[in-house]
Amino acid sequence: MRSGALKLLKQGEEIGLPIDRQRDADVRSLQETTLYGIRGAAAYADYAAILGQEDDEVYASLQEKLSKITDKNLTLQDWVALALDTGKTNLKAMELLDAGNTSHFGHPEPSLVSLGHKAGKAILVSGHDLKDLAILLKQTEGKDINIYTHGEMLLSHAYYPELKKYSHLAGHFGTAWQNQKKELPEFPGPILFTTNCIQEPAAGYENNVFTTGLVAWPGVTHLENDNFGPLIEHAIEMPGLANEEASGGVWVGYARNTVLQDHPMGRVIDTLVDYVKAGTIKHFFLVGGCDGAKPGRNHYSDFVDKAPQDTVILTLACGKFRFFDHDLGAIDGVPRLIDVGQCNDAYSAVVVASALSDALGKEISDLPSVWLSGGRVMQMTGAAYYGSALFWLRLVVEFGLGLAVLGVFRKIPIWLPVLLLAGEILGRIMFFTHVVHSAVNIGNLY
Ligand code: SF4
Repeated sequence: MRSGALKLLKQGEEIGLPIDRQRDADVRSLQETTLYGIRGAAAYADYAAILGQEDDEVYASLQEKLSKITDKNLTLQDWVALALDTGKTNLKAMELLDAGNTSHFGHPEPSLVSLGHKAGKAILVSGHDLKDLAILLKQTEGKDINIYTHGEMLLSHAYYPELKKYSHLAGHFGTAWQNQKKELPEFPGPILFTTNCIQEPAAGYENNVFTTGLVAWPGVTHLENDNFGPLIEHAIEMPGLANEEASGGVWVGYARNTVLQDHPMGRVIDTLVDYVKAGTIKHFFLVGGCDGAKPGRNHYSDFVDKAPQDTVILTLACGKFRFFDHDLGAIDGVPRLIDVGQCNDAYSAVVVASALSDALGKEISDLPSVWLSGGRVMQMTGAAYYGSALFWLRLVVEFGLGLAVLGVFRKIPIWLPVLLLAGEILGRIMFFTHVVHSAVNIGNLY
């Protein structure tokens, strides 16, 4: 392991949460959950503050949670309450960040993003930080350098008018955080990491990497005070993209305002409600999250590809890069794959879910929507098997075969129960293979 990674590991050990191994496993798990929640909310609150949105309640809540994080007197119930309250603070922090982004850059609108490229000098920008991207776009205006987005920066193509107005915001390159070492050496220009999950830069592109804001890596040039001059000079020295290439595109920008606002053709939410009431749309699935790096974790894409035609998939965060370019078609004009945005845009999904619950007169928990957990995917795998043609065909064949043999032989031959038992075992092996396959992909059994 290289020295940069070793330094980070050592730092992690020094500042990690001191775990009391004697404590109940559920308490330790809630302690960690709360700490992750605090970290997430703090990151969102920090970026919201950069964009001028602050709330003392959020800071007070985070301080209170931090002061309790090693409290040995809290009971299991206290920890459950603390973890849930951290979730509430997280939602508030995301609301602040949403206000910061939309007040600075406008509201996202549905936009087609090119996955191809133009010929010419190029810079790749990764991460979540729209303000850094906006400043770089301004600083590169008229310099014949195209800017491409990577990872969670994909959504920036939808921000109207402040980001979309730049014609040199040219397209999107690459996928999720875990593919950096595979994809980034192919990019013939410098790469700027704003706030996001940087991987140790590999030989082949390490000299082209720049960082800014809260993200950094030992040995990598860190740019301060919004001065992207060194990055721009590096782009001019590098070869850039030799030819223009069209590689299709993806739609982004279905955030809360797109769904809830008035359009000349009517509000999207009214159409969704009509379709739900008419049974045209049976379920909404939210497939969100950051995803893992293990090879073969294809449960996200398998699930999305196999979801029935009367369902709509909402997605956000890096997990979507498993399927973001799949064509799932539409239900009477409503796209079946709806990209809500970055991980922090979970706030948008919550706002849309609340609006749907008001319009349908149902609690959010009673909506025809599923926030997928590993256990839930496995339960659905089981339910799907019991409703499948394979299950019923097996029953009919076994029953029919038994009756036919009885009709011919007028007695039960010794091999009949053995044959039926073998059929039953084979059917169950097929079912459990599917469940275990899901479990391995998800990482855990329930
Ligand atoms: S969505 Fe998650 S994994 Fe992807 S860059 Fe953001 S925080 Fe990192």
